Amino acid sequence: MTALKQTCAALLRDKNFIQHTWCDARDGRRMDVIDPASGETIGSVPDSGAADALAAVDAAQAVFPAWAARPAAERARLLKRWHALILSNQEALGSLISLEQGKPLKEGIGEVLYGAAYVDWFAAEATRGYGDIIPEAVPGRKMMVLKEPVGVVAAITPWNFPLAMIARKIAPALAAGCTVIAKPAEDTPLTALALVWLAGQAGFPEGVLNIVTASRERAPEVVDVWLADSRVRKITFTGSTPVGKHLARESAGTLKRLSLELGGNAPFIVFDDADLDAAVDGLMASKFRNGGQTCVCPNRIYVQDGVHDDFVSRLSKQVAALAVGPATHPDSQIGPMINARAVEKIERHVKDAVRLGARVMVGGERVRNAVADGPNYYLPTVLTQATPEMALSCEETFGPVAPVFRFHTEQDVIAQANDTPFGLAAYFYSNDVRRIWRVAQALETGIVGINEGAIAAEAAPFGGVKESGYGREGSRYGLDDYTQTKYLCQGNLG
Ligand code: NAP
Repeated sequence: MTALKQTCAALLRDKNFIQHTWCDARDGRRMDVIDPASGETIGSVPDSGAADALAAVDAAQAVFPAWAARPAAERARLLKRWHALILSNQEALGSLISLEQGKPLKEGIGEVLYGAAYVDWFAAEATRGYGDIIPEAVPGRKMMVLKEPVGVVAAITPWNFPLAMIARKIAPALAAGCTVIAKPAEDTPLTALALVWLAGQAGFPEGVLNIVTASRERAPEVVDVWLADSRVRKITFTGSTPVGKHLARESAGTLKRLSLELGGNAPFIVFDDADLDAAVDGLMASKFRNGGQTCVCPNRIYVQDGVHDDFVSRLSKQVAALAVGPATHPDSQIGPMINARAVEKIERHVKDAVRLGARVMVGGERVRNAVADGPNYYLPTVLTQATPEMALSCEETFGPVAPVFRFHTEQDVIAQANDTPFGLAAYFYSNDVRRIWRVAQALETGIVGINEGAIAAEAAPFGGVKESGYGREGSRYGLDDYTQTKYLCQGNLG
């Protein structure tokens, strides 16, 4: 921990940022931030409540008209400056991510570059918020369409990508001319505070970007204020489906706009005609990134009869070779899970699967040794003979567990893949061009990886269907979520 903390020391901030001022919670409450690798305390931040939430809305609302009126090119310039500062602090930010979230340092820095790419993308998109001129229907009458910012946006983010998740919400909101109030997850507030501090250095005006931190217990108190306040015009949320549904229900009273990036249950399908080396590599990349704690991680791996045993044996070999350890260890590929609750869920899923007939090929238990010396480590695991009755088939495991289901026909596997309320990502491997189009269209998800395990990119629309939510982040569609359409009709011009 000490080495990481030294690298990011200059970026450590331990207060809320409201109206361009670093401040404590109004009632002085604080909460500890914990290193998931060792269980030790890294520092503390405000445990904010309703009064802080309200102050953030006041600040964001007061400056909104002026910020919305700024020329798009000016907003773009500030975003570009912020982007440059993020890049020049990539090692410190990456260390901070690894410190509070636990991912290996290489992945921490990778996340900084990934998040920064969204800032860069939306800096450019800021200048492309085009409207329309509609061809005249009546002589002497002009019809025009303007894209306007929606207003104050509340951004609520999870812990698994402490920088990228918040960057890809703040950047399009500011680009569109919205002002922002943000609440990061309890487990990872420090990266968000550092990012906001860098935005301040970039020169964003007072009140445009505000952040409050809160504990798991007090998060509802903060967010309830935002849900009830009619000045907050949009909620952009990444997190679990139950909390997303709660936000949708509670924001109905003021009919806010919503972007909901929720849980997934991604299928990963390997057909008999697939390139098996590519499929194993794709699965390793998509399943074990961030220790399996990503919303687009394959949660159910379907392998066709003809290649099942070969695939399992190649996969098991690679999984057994993964090094588990803290972010600071140069060889670590799988860090600790975020907290005790996360490890308990993984353990429950594996035990339930084994009870129902799954076979453990690799892993299947917690690990604690000289390198992985902490309470939250779980061995990368491969299970076979997985079935739909198992809990890991219907719930996100959110850990380094790869359950393999055997299947017989394309029709069967499509039915199984779609037999879930979730619809975020899906992956499949096949070399049959006709099958590729059939399967890609039949999968009920917002994202499909075809012979590819790395799918996220700032230029692509990221988001789900069904109970994985709605709205898209990134791409040319990403700005739409933060704008509203105004129609102007000017008559008597003839
Ligand atoms: P979570 O429990 O839903 O928390 C997400 C955020 O909501 C956190 O800031 C959390 O604060 C806050 N929150 C929790 N309960 C709340 C309530 N009652 N009212 C208001 N705010 C509340 O999710 P998580 O466990 O942090 O994240 C994992 C989930 O996120 C997984 O399901 C994963 O699939 C999903 N995810 C989705 C995407 C995507 O793009 N679709 C990306 C990443 C993750 P606290 O931290 O203080 O509880």
